[in-house]
Amino acid sequence: MIYMFFMEITKLYSPNFNSKKRGSNNIASIIIHYTGMQSERESIERLTSSSSKVSCHYLINRSGKVFRLVEDKNMAWHAGKSMWGKYKNLNKNSIGIELVNKGHQYGYASFKKKQISTLVKLCKILKKKYKIKTKNFLGHSDVSPLRKIDPGEKFPWEFLSIKKIGIWHDFKSNFLKKYRKLKVSKQEVKKFKKLLIRIGYFFPKGKTKSFARITKAFQRHFRKELINGTLDKECLIIADNLAKKS
Ligand SMILES: [Zn+2]
Repeated sequence: MIYMFFMEITKLYSPNFNSKKRGSNNIASIIIHYTGMQSERESIERLTSSSSKVSCHYLINRSGKVFRLVEDKNMAWHAGKSMWGKYKNLNKNSIGIELVNKGHQYGYASFKKKQISTLVKLCKILKKKYKIKTKNFLGHSDVSPLRKIDPGEKFPWEFLSIKKIGIWHDFKSNFLKKYRKLKVSKQEVKKFKKLLIRIGYFFPKGKTKSFARITKAFQRHFRKELINGTLDKECLIIADNLAKKS
């Protein structure tokens, strides 16, 4: 057991990290995941076994207990192929936090209150320690939108933004609702893409199908009431607001 600013952390060991250490100035973002497995035990087994080639820095279980699998100064293998703003390969520049949740495949459940309050505590500590910007708290689906959907639409981004963990828009849901499903022009599609790039999303060249996937990732994070991959006025209004904070 170790203590980090009065937070109790249980040490485990995962061999799944790069042998070369990084400087603390390389840590610029936090990536949130869910484990997406049947049980906590299975998740820990996978994240600590050398054959899986995956890991994370921290894991928070359903009762809010924190485990550390890889030290911050080591690059854990949690994000895989990923992009965000100027960052390519987020493993290099981020800390990965896994939340125990069965995920969409095995029965996606709401995150537990205790799990989230522990996450807030941990994020606050890391934010201060590494001077991480508020806007750089992201979901795995934000940085790998073509492959990943975790931590999913049940993750409470709006609540976290009140704690200055991640950004959120300034609108009330009653105002936004009027614009849901309202069609946009071709010009507005172009504008939306530009706004998303300003926020940090990456559009691979020549892949027309990726637009819907990236729009879905955006919705999963910022407009969870309707995740259909179709751009509407509501998404455009939200993106415009967020781009100003990015
Ligand atoms: Zn993930």
